[in-house]
Amino acid sequence: MLSNIKSILGFDSKEYPKQFEKIINNLYPDSNPDEEIVKKVHKAFEFGSIAHSEQLRSSGEPYFIHCVSVGVKLSEWCLDSDTIIAGILHDTLEDTDVSIKILESEFNPEIAKLVEGVSKLSGIRFRSREQKQAENFMKMFLSVANDIRVIIIKFADRLHNMKTIEHLPRIKQRRIAKETRDVFAPLAHRLGMYELKIELEDLSLKVINKSVYDNLKKKIDTTRKQRDKYIEKFSSPILQTLDEYSIESKVYGRAKHYYSIYNKMISQNLDFEQLYDLFAIRIIINKIEDCYAVLGIVHQIYKPIQDRFKDYIATPKSNGYQSIHTTVFSSKGEMMEIQIRTKTLDELAEIG
Ligand code: MN
Repeated sequence: MLSNIKSILGFDSKEYPKQFEKIINNLYPDSNPDEEIVKKVHKAFEFGSIAHSEQLRSSGEPYFIHCVSVGVKLSEWCLDSDTIIAGILHDTLEDTDVSIKILESEFNPEIAKLVEGVSKLSGIRFRSREQKQAENFMKMFLSVANDIRVIIIKFADRLHNMKTIEHLPRIKQRRIAKETRDVFAPLAHRLGMYELKIELEDLSLKVINKSVYDNLKKKIDTTRKQRDKYIEKFSSPILQTLDEYSIESKVYGRAKHYYSIYNKMISQNLDFEQLYDLFAIRIIINKIEDCYAVLGIVHQIYKPIQDRFKDYIATPKSNGYQSIHTTVFSSKGEMMEIQIRTKTLDELAEIG
């Protein structure tokens, strides 16, 4: 890839940022980059860094670092080059004297439109916690955005802002965190970006209720070793049987995220120690036909709990999520949630 970039741009890796290379790598995992696009992405780096050159973030860092992070995140989410470039330029209309016309002529009308959409969204401000308000807000968001990619850019923007929020005044932190929890996370969920939803909720909880978050983190960290052992013990008979049936699989345990543990403690009025399903086992297989065979195997080994079985493969969730969930008892009477899905479904459920 390095030599490819060099032959296109005519200069060495020392002369462009690491993040630029990362984006090109994500765009072209097969190391066969399109010359025009490499040039355009590089141009966005130069254009953006000049446009934002005078600005600093609250942390004191150059502002453009934020814009680049948004571009990199979009490339990790496998978006197209126009969206990635619009991500790099997403704050130029709002925060610099760059105009839509300039973006159109320097890049293309598509990119200009995406950046314009992101700027329009920033104008809408969420104020109430009420469910219905959040619902209306989401609808308004979607209609103003007009193009789903605008929302995705906004997601990457919000994610980076949440990760670097500690430099803002306390009041502002709380306002942004609540908006993230009440609007952005549900919206991510609705669009099937489950991993993002979790990340946004945990980041919000850390701001809104830091002592709860720290407490949970400590407890989860200290019980990790014990949990890993438990998961290993629990999954080994499953793995062994899958092997006998020559079903290729990957099994791993997954701790539930802080925010959902917190919600469960509140809604069921339980202590941390009383929560049985803090974590789940996920079984990833290659073929969708095997999902049901694996389910049968799991139920042969562990007794299922009747009403906790959910087949989201036969009837996918409204956001497209497909997986089989079941909760079973071990011989000792401990409960464990088990998720079964294919590799493709797993990626889809994480990235959306
Ligand atoms: Mn921004």
